[in-house]
Amino acid sequence: MFEDKICAVDFCEGAAVASLAQQDFCLNHFIDLCYENLQRIDPRGQKRGRMPLELPSLRVFIEECSRRALEVALHCDNIDNLQRGRLLDILLWAGELFLLLRVPSRGFADSLLEEHDPVLTRLAARHF
Ligand SMILES: [Zn+2]
Repeated sequence: MFEDKICAVDFCEGAAVASLAQQDFCLNHFIDLCYENLQRIDPRGQKRGRMPLELPSLRVFIEECSRRALEVALHCDNIDNLQRGRLLDILLWAGELFLLLRVPSRGFADSLLEEHDPVLTRLAARHF
């Protein structure tokens, strides 16, 4: 499927092993990209009260990400233990995010309320 294809990242000559968002990547860049995007999506890493936007497209990405990571882990030769561990990590993280984004936790709602609480806003205005 990826024969003769090389990684889509500039200046990388690595053989493509996985695609993400219609682009082909070598193993290391695929892993980097997954981490980068999962980090960006993870609501736990966001500032308080910021809802992740475009939930459906995020879910599609997370699904694709975990499916590809699984495919690579199962079918890719030339894969070392560190890379295998990172793929597993991506799979677990994606699974967690999928649940988090499907069931918005009370935490989200609470932090949204806080953000619009006029008393807190006034307090904040006084102190900063
Ligand atoms: Zn690459």
